[in-house]
Amino acid sequence: MMTRIIKVDQDNPSQEAVQEGSSVLKKGGLIVFPTETVYGIGCNAFSAESALKIFSVKKRPADNPLIVHISNMEMLHKITRDVPEVVEERWKKFWPGPLTIIFNASPLMPAEVTGGLDTVAVRMPSNNLARSIIEASGLPVAAPSANISTRPSITSSEYAIQEFSGSVDLIYDAGDCSLGLESTVIDIRGEKPIVLRAGAMNAEDVSSIFGEVVIDDIARGIAYSENPISPGTKYKHYSPSKPLVMIEDDSLYKRIFRKYSMDRRFLFIGLDQMLERNGQNLISLGGSGDLREAARKLFSSFREIDRSNCLAGVIHSFPEEKEGLAIMNRIRKASIMVVRTESDFNRFVESL
Ligand code: AMP
Ligand code: MG
Repeated sequence: MMTRIIKVDQDNPSQEAVQEGSSVLKKGGLIVFPTETVYGIGCNAFSAESALKIFSVKKRPADNPLIVHISNMEMLHKITRDVPEVVEERWKKFWPGPLTIIFNASPLMPAEVTGGLDTVAVRMPSNNLARSIIEASGLPVAAPSANISTRPSITSSEYAIQEFSGSVDLIYDAGDCSLGLESTVIDIRGEKPIVLRAGAMNAEDVSSIFGEVVIDDIARGIAYSENPISPGTKYKHYSPSKPLVMIEDDSLYKRIFRKYSMDRRFLFIGLDQMLERNGQNLISLGGSGDLREAARKLFSSFREIDRSNCLAGVIHSFPEEKEGLAIMNRIRKASIMVVRTESDFNRFVESL
C-alpha cells in the first residue's frame, strides 16, 4: 500500500493536513497521528471493517479493545448508553487530556472496537492536530497506540514512519509527543474509581477530581489476571526485542553501572544522578526533580536498545508516586527480569 507522509506542525496544523486525515477516516482508511500521550493508529470507530484493519496491521489480539477518541461531548453521548453525572459535571477538569474512562457502550459500537465487551473506553485528546482531525471528520476515532503489538509505544514520528510505512494510508510526520506515556484508564462505575492502567495523568490528580482512587495491582504491573477488567493488561507490552533488565536497588544500579559503563554490551538507561560518569552507552532520562522528562523519553530509550549495537538494556527502578507509577508499570512489563543482587546480574551476563 502507498502511504502518504504529511509533515505537519502538531500544535498549529494546516487546514489541508487536517482535511487529508479526515477524508481518509471517512473513506474507512487508517491514519497514524500524534496525540499528547503516544502516536495512535486510528480509524472511524463506527466501522467494524476499518477496526479489523487496525488489529491486522498491529497484530493485536482481538479481545483487546480500542480506546475511542472524541473531540466534543456530543460524540460521547452518541457512543455511550449513559454518562455518569460526575462526568457531565466535571469533564472540563480532565478533558481534553490524558484520561480514558470506561462507559456503558451504545449499541452503535461495533464489537470489533469494544473487544466484545458491553463497555467502551473513551478519551478526548488535547493534541491540536488529533482533535482537529476528529472534529473535521465528525467521527469518533478508534485508536490504539501505534506500534506493532508487544513492542514499545511510539513517541516520535521517525519510529512511526519506520513501523507503518506501507501498511496504513497516512502518517503524520509531526515530531515528538509532549507527554510520552499512554493515558490513564479508569473505571468509575463502582463505588470508588479504579485505576485500571497507570498512565500520563497521575493517580493523585485523578483523586482530586473523582475522590480517592483504588490502584489496581495489575495497573502497577505487579499482578496478573487471565480475566482482567481491562483485557489489554494480560498481554506482553512495551518490550524491545533485546532484553531489558531492571535493577531494583539504587546503590546496586550505581555499582553495576561503574563496573560496566565502558562495556559496549550494555546500554544504561537512567536519571542523571544514577549515571555518575560519562559512559559510552548511556541514555539520560533527565534530572530527578520532575519525572515528566523521564516519562517523555522512556519509550524512545526502549527503542534505542534495539537500534544500538548493545546486547541488552539496563534500567533502575523509580519511586511509585506521581509519574513514577506509570513509568514503573512500563518498565516492569518491558523487562525480562528484576535484578535484586549482584549475582542475579552476573547470571544475566552469562546468559547473553
Ligand atoms: P492502547 O490503546 O494500546 O494503549 O490500549 C488501550 C487500553 O485500554 C488497553 O489496556 C485496553 O484493555 C483498555 N481498554 C480499552 N477499552 C476498554 C474497555 N471497554 N474496558 C476496559 N479496558 C479497556
Ligand atoms: Mg498499546
